[in-house]
Amino acid sequence: MPDWKNNDEQVVNQLRQQHPELQQVEAALLKELATQLLAVYAHNPTPHSQEPAERFTHLRQERQHILQKLGLSDNYAQTGYSCPLCRDMMFIEKGGEWLPCSCWEEVHQQRKQQQAGISPKMQQQTFATFSLDYYAPDKYIPGRNYSYQEQASRVLAACQEFVVKVTAREKPRGLYIYGDTGRGKTHLAAAISNALLAQEVEVSYVATSAFLSSLRSSYEEGSDPSQSESHIMAELGRVTVLVLDDLGVDQFTPWAVEKFYHLINLRYMAGLPTVYTSNIPLADLDSNMGVGGASIRIVSRIAETCDLYLLDGIDIRFWKK
Ligand SMILES: [Zn+2]
Repeated sequence: MPDWKNNDEQVVNQLRQQHPELQQVEAALLKELATQLLAVYAHNPTPHSQEPAERFTHLRQERQHILQKLGLSDNYAQTGYSCPLCRDMMFIEKGGEWLPCSCWEEVHQQRKQQQAGISPKMQQQTFATFSLDYYAPDKYIPGRNYSYQEQASRVLAACQEFVVKVTAREKPRGLYIYGDTGRGKTHLAAAISNALLAQEVEVSYVATSAFLSSLRSSYEEGSDPSQSESHIMAELGRVTVLVLDDLGVDQFTPWAVEKFYHLINLRYMAGLPTVYTSNIPLADLDSNMGVGGASIRIVSRIAETCDLYLLDGIDIRFWKK
């Protein structure tokens, strides 16, 4: 059979219209594949795993048979496969069993990242792409006998250790990473989230301002009931690790302080760790929030549950660039 590759969508569509049996079997295959993907995604493989595998094999044979009759090759509808391992089926057969291909793992990871609130840009921000070169090796932190680069290296190690402990189901203390804007705090917050997701740990990443505005919009008329305040609070209050990025004082009204305290208190009661990043040292957070008692309670909860890390001192050579 000629290896006829055809990139012309119109021709492919015509073929499928002329041969409804081909269209049917391909649709059935896709449906079967989607069902299996969902089962794997939900960590809930169907109880009789042999059965769908047989259905799948049967449908593929049927499709093969139709293609043969029509003189079409297996890849008649495409110019090439993006994954040659599984020929874009996302599953590979091993000893009669259908197992997810490595390309599916990638898709799975991306989907988890999206659900956790990680943007495509942040998906690239990992421990591996975090460079200590940006931090001044020759500038010493006032009052301390080590450089900003050494400090950044400590922060990185603390973040990695946090991931290791959470993955080992220990309950580590949370982290409060502070420093001026543009010092790599969000990169580390993303790296922690990505590393935990890769280990199948439940994570929610949320910018503090986005958390507060999602609460505000939950009060609007006709808003999605699955996004009500109590749902958001319950969800973020019970997730294994919460990453609250960019805790800034400008976001806080007395209402916001109250809501924020409610969330961190939920996690405190449940003994769940939270990672915060902020451009304000914790000692100054309360006076900067400036709303009295409630902000003092926030600071004391964070102090009680988190280790504090300064991340600062971008090397002057990188500022010039
Ligand atoms: Zn593949």
